Amino acid sequence: MKNLLKKLIEAKSTPDVGEIECAKVLADFFASAGIESNVEIWDKTRANITATVKSSSEKPALLFVSHLDVVPAGKQSWQSDPFEAAERDRKIFGRGACDMKSGMASVAAAMAEIKKSVVNLKSDIIFSATAGEETDSIGIKKFLESFDGKENNLCGAIVPEPTDFKLITAHRGLLWLEITTKGKTAHGSMPHLGINAIESMRVFLDELEHYDITGVKDKLLGTGSMSINKIRGGNATNVIPDKCTVQLDIRTIPEHNHSQIQNDIEAIFAKISQRKKDFSAAIEVIRSVEALKTNSDCAFVNDLKKITGNTETAAAQFTTDAPFIAELNIPVVIFGPGKPDICHKPDEYIEIQDLQKAVEFYKNIILHFAC
Ligand SMILES: [Zn+2]
Repeated sequence: MKNLLKKLIEAKSTPDVGEIECAKVLADFFASAGIESNVEIWDKTRANITATVKSSSEKPALLFVSHLDVVPAGKQSWQSDPFEAAERDRKIFGRGACDMKSGMASVAAAMAEIKKSVVNLKSDIIFSATAGEETDSIGIKKFLESFDGKENNLCGAIVPEPTDFKLITAHRGLLWLEITTKGKTAHGSMPHLGINAIESMRVFLDELEHYDITGVKDKLLGTGSMSINKIRGGNATNVIPDKCTVQLDIRTIPEHNHSQIQNDIEAIFAKISQRKKDFSAAIEVIRSVEALKTNSDCAFVNDLKKITGNTETAAAQFTTDAPFIAELNIPVVIFGPGKPDICHKPDEYIEIQDLQKAVEFYKNIILHFAC
């Protein structure tokens, strides 16, 4: 189990490298456990892997979805090489040790143990590990395209991201937008001959200030938020700029509708155009992940509460691929080993006892739903 995690950490899967090596480590592991798997490769470096422990299919299948990719090691120095798993102080260190190669390895290990020891499973156990959760969610989208949720009658899905063994049923969504205003260049001494894209952006941002994303509130998740985190425009002090872009980071709650937010912004463009005839702007979606809100009182979640000893569910600060899985109209719960606040940081680690605990939890979950 520890070895599988170490191999996964050493199979670097940052965005510049891709996920193939990591998928192959899992494929080898499943092959040695007698579990069928399938690695899907595209764009030379990207990969997803699916594996299934087959059953008599008397009961709906259980789905586990992880992500293969990790964020880069970052510029701060580590105590040991982030891509060589190091064991010290009863912990394993390395990029992905917490987010989320431990959860992924623990599910794979639990499946292998079940495959070896239980002969009459009543529901299929489906494992999926996908590409690009940290960047573009491309892997989960590909997986869902080829996955027939109706044919694969499912009781629910578990995402083994690090939650420190809390049951997470909700998190905010994100909508990243790039707004570009367009103008016309002219000499800086004759601004009347050009259209200043930065000036257009100023007008837009003034209007945006009146757009309140925090008006609606969710009981569990609070309000949404919006911040302008990137701005770019202009080439020289003496040239009227013809282009200006800003990037907005909008965090949404289930009550928000992402297309409606885009429509609202288009409406701001239209409003400005009425009084400023030379105003021209465009909107581009960089990334869109809806909020997650699983009914925390459904049978699937209530069973998980009993199995894991959690009396209640919680909301997470971070965003995951879980909302894409929720589109299958099944309950989705995030539950896994590792502390969320050490993700994406130097000296990321997992406590070895949490790894063992995770395998036991996933085995008990499988036995509950599949026997
Ligand atoms: Zn993650």
